[in-house]
Amino acid sequence: MPERTQTLHTQPTLHDLIDTVGCPTCRVGTGVPCVTRANKPAREPHGQRFEALEQAAGITEHRATAHREAEARGRSWTASDREAERALLSAYAARITQKPERTRPTVTHPSGLVFRVIPADSYTARMSRDQHSLVMADGHTWTVGQPVGWNGTPAAWRTDEEPARSQPDEALRQVHAQALHNLIGTIATLIADYLTETRPTDLIIEASRKYLASSYATDRTGRDPEYATEVVAALLRLLPSPRQAETRGEYALRIRAIVGRTHV
Ligand SMILES: [Zn+2]
Repeated sequence: MPERTQTLHTQPTLHDLIDTVGCPTCRVGTGVPCVTRANKPAREPHGQRFEALEQAAGITEHRATAHREAEARGRSWTASDREAERALLSAYAARITQKPERTRPTVTHPSGLVFRVIPADSYTARMSRDQHSLVMADGHTWTVGQPVGWNGTPAAWRTDEEPARSQPDEALRQVHAQALHNLIGTIATLIADYLTETRPTDLIIEASRKYLASSYATDRTGRDPEYATEVVAALLRLLPSPRQAETRGEYALRIRAIVGRTHV
């Protein structure tokens, strides 16, 4: 099947990967398409975003090295090495789509004791000694036990677990959660900018917080009222309630500090 082989070897382009970096021009985060100054979807990603992607993929560095080497050999100009740049881009794509290192799941008892989570229907669970129920720090009741041969390491499992999500659903959910996280960081920063620029010495009131969250979220989510509702809710969780006698400028500073902590 030659067609199939072709498809499998298709290399990603800069356009395919543009959303994997934030845009330095319009300041949208990863996963969010570029927007114009009027907050409308941009027709094309901004040039600086392509530069940011080339930087992230190591292409900028590669070009600089090639240029230095050419200069050392007395030449002032080098053709860009398309093949190498494509390879760097493919390697970058592979890096970012790699699943994060799997850590063994655990659950913690309010006493601080940590239990390794194992499947309820596993042989290890069935054979465990000293089985009994415990309410963990997550508020759920777990069955715990001492698996044979684990040298005292306790295990926990739940029989009333929600059905496991299918892999594709889980991947989509994660992409969605990440995009939402990035978007509310972007919007919170825009709100902080706005408050700093507009009557920063006036007092901030709760109504403004709600109004700004709702209007910016609606603006940014376009024709999707359901998503807008989700974004407003997430935004209101991120934005703290104004303090007594707090100015808009001071409140903006608090927003920036929160975004700085929650959005790397
Ligand atoms: Zn942009």
